[in-house]
Amino acid sequence: MSISNNQRKIATMFFIICFMLFLTSCTNSSDFDSLLSIHMIDVGQSESILIIAPNGNTILIDAGDEVSGRKVVRYLKKRKIDDIDVMIVTHPHSDHIGGVEAVANKYVIDKFFMPDITHNTETFEGLLQVLEEHNIDVSFGKKNMRMRIDDNLYLFLLSPIKNHSDNLNNWSIVAKIQYNEKSFLFTGDAEHELEMDLIEKYGASFLRSHVLKIGHHGSNTSTTEQFLDIVQPNVALISVGKENPYGFPHREVINRLISRNILIYRTDEQSNIVILSDGFEIWSYDAPWFH
Ligand SMILES: [Zn+2]
Repeated sequence: MSISNNQRKIATMFFIICFMLFLTSCTNSSDFDSLLSIHMIDVGQSESILIIAPNGNTILIDAGDEVSGRKVVRYLKKRKIDDIDVMIVTHPHSDHIGGVEAVANKYVIDKFFMPDITHNTETFEGLLQVLEEHNIDVSFGKKNMRMRIDDNLYLFLLSPIKNHSDNLNNWSIVAKIQYNEKSFLFTGDAEHELEMDLIEKYGASFLRSHVLKIGHHGSNTSTTEQFLDIVQPNVALISVGKENPYGFPHREVINRLISRNILIYRTDEQSNIVILSDGFEIWSYDAPWFH
């Protein structure tokens, strides 16, 4: 009896090891080659998202804060990235632009988009200097922009839509990726005013996205019931720092997601998160956050 128990234990261990080896082999970057991969890099209470198209073209949305710039570079190296084809800085707050210098020091950035709004901070002045030093050609992101990234894979820039005066979060460049049948929405720090602008301008069928990067680190100023009901995501991504002073993600937002059975991935609980798609299915080797 004890032998068969032992045998069962050994068999179980063997199964677990095989399964782990299988997962490890699946998560080698070479296995991402024919897929779209979305990487939410764990940059604490800031944000940086790497997107790699099946043809290897790369998009980097934000670069984290100054402290985490090096972390972003390390991640890009780990993924064997050669250059950044499109970089989007969603808006001029330091938790989104602070790491641009570290990235620009190591990588050629082909196209650089930022909203046409300035900010009176040292970090923003520093960004302008870095762009000049590296001769990076800056374009202002705006509504109704579309770029082809790969076969059947398009990047849309949906905003800024209108003047939001000194609310920089609502100047965020919201970006959408459409790959065959699947779509992915990246909202920067958009708050409910911009969410309403998006609904009014683009409507439900265009905004519907399978994966939604939750706006403003899960703040209750974003991710309204109305926006969720329009976008109808299956998966939510939240970039947020452990025990951050703002109490992000706010409980109301988490409750809105849970009540709609949306799978939640968050960097404070799970560190780096990778989502994969072949344009018809979406999956991850990381389990969603267990709440
Ligand atoms: Zn932010």
